[in-house]
Amino acid sequence: MDRGSKGKKNIERLKIPRQRMRGQDPKVRIHNFDEVPFGYSSEQAVLEATRCLQCKKAPCISGCPVEIDIPAFLELIEEGDFLAAAAKVKEANALPSICGRVCPQEEQCELICIIGKKGEPVNIGKLEAFVADYERKTGKVTVPDIAPSTGKRVAIVGSGPAGLTAASELARMGHEVTVFEALHMPGGVLVYGIPEFRLPNDIIEQELTILEKMGVKIIVNSVIGKIDTIDELLTNGFDAVFVGAGAGLPYFMNIPGENLNGVYSANEFLTRINLMGAYRFPEYMTPVKVGKRVAVIGGGNTAMDGARSSLRLGPEEVRIIYRRTRAEAPARDEEIEHAIEEGVIFQFLTAPTRYLGDEEGWLTAMEIQKMELGEPDASGRRRPVPIPGSEEIVPVDTVVVAIGFGVNPLILDSTPDMSISHRGVVLVDEETGMTSKPGVFAGGDIITGGSTVILAMGQGKRAARGIDRYLKGEITKAEIKTP
Ligand code: FAD
Ligand code: SF4
Repeated sequence: MDRGSKGKKNIERLKIPRQRMRGQDPKVRIHNFDEVPFGYSSEQAVLEATRCLQCKKAPCISGCPVEIDIPAFLELIEEGDFLAAAAKVKEANALPSICGRVCPQEEQCELICIIGKKGEPVNIGKLEAFVADYERKTGKVTVPDIAPSTGKRVAIVGSGPAGLTAASELARMGHEVTVFEALHMPGGVLVYGIPEFRLPNDIIEQELTILEKMGVKIIVNSVIGKIDTIDELLTNGFDAVFVGAGAGLPYFMNIPGENLNGVYSANEFLTRINLMGAYRFPEYMTPVKVGKRVAVIGGGNTAMDGARSSLRLGPEEVRIIYRRTRAEAPARDEEIEHAIEEGVIFQFLTAPTRYLGDEEGWLTAMEIQKMELGEPDASGRRRPVPIPGSEEIVPVDTVVVAIGFGVNPLILDSTPDMSISHRGVVLVDEETGMTSKPGVFAGGDIITGGSTVILAMGQGKRAARGIDRYLKGEITKAEIKTP
């Protein structure tokens, strides 16, 4: 008998429609930064979980980068045991309320859910967020058990999902963990990049509180490479270091006019809004000027966040300018859908070629050019090719450039014996996460370039296991395959 097929027959399960998520009306939400979806009610969650066929081989599990036992937690929801369902998810994923909101489920577990072959897959992501929220709202979040102290000290550089996951795993193993964060608030992209209407900051604060209860020390305003180098951490009493400093260096297109006032990197724009409260100016003292017409360059999650955040600051028009088509856009489907609902205009197969300004150095217009798709490039996606003579000048007051990120050189320059690839990312042992520098491990965007929260977490977890083995003397150096 299939797991959970006790009560209902599959034919009855298949008749249940995918439960629609209630949320703020687009006309209302473009005037606030509150979270867009309201989340499932308990009744909706039970119905949605009951759609699962409890497949014996459960393909969805292999689609999840951290292999959550999806049918098992869905069965617990169906039975109404939401706390047990949350505990089941947390066996594999330490940050379910975050992943349930921001993971690209449509490319992972939900892509291969059996029901999705003929209809709509089970809404695994929203159910993951539901159980984690239920646990949080009922005040029943548990602090994981900590093993007896090993007397070993580990430094973590960066407090994004990679660093926080490594910190949590290492603390559970009994190691003393100190996290060094360059900014004045911990959380990495989860707090300074992803806006409040997608991922409320109080969810991250809750995760940080749990880490602190586990004994993890978080020191903010500490730029490693400036206050101390990684070598100094190792000589000042730390037995190992995990580097999860992300990829926060914004790319620009290197076209004329990018230094005009009004042209922002997405990084600066979103940090001003999310971390420095620009949308609550003058209550917070960091304004951000958007003018009447905003153009956001790019097709990823960062571009959608830039567009939807600027929309909430009151311009007349916000446009996404993307050089490929919607099919190639790397943003999550839900983000694109939400942006369309909110009135963001999409201009596909178009790229800027230069920006124009007034005599005081303020942006006034941009030249854009039409593209067509040519042969696939190294990423496997068809290369955009400019169409000569298709240029036009359009007025614009603010441009947000969201075309990707590279690794900040500070740590790399201050740790020259840590090998990097030709792409400028840190090279690690695929099994342990150790870098070419013994005792120094790395994970997250610093080893992949801009990636996803769940992959950064998976790499934080892998490195924590590697660090534990290193501290026990089971491994001494990395086996690095040169790409
Ligand atoms: P980060 O989250 O970048 O954290 C690194 C931390 O290290 C930062 O806090 C930084 O300040 C700190 N740091 C850097 N240098 C130093 C130093 N020298 N000393 C001390 N601290 C340092 N992924 C998804 O899965 N879904 C999404 O919807 C999604 N949306 C995104 C939206 C935006 C706007 C952006 C920018 C990214 C998005 N991503 C999304 C990608 C995802 O957020 C990243 O892949 C992930 O955060 C990487 O985690 P990390 O821990 O490696 O790095
Ligand atoms: Fe349930 Fe879909 Fe996973 Fe099958 S593939 S176990 S139906 S979630």
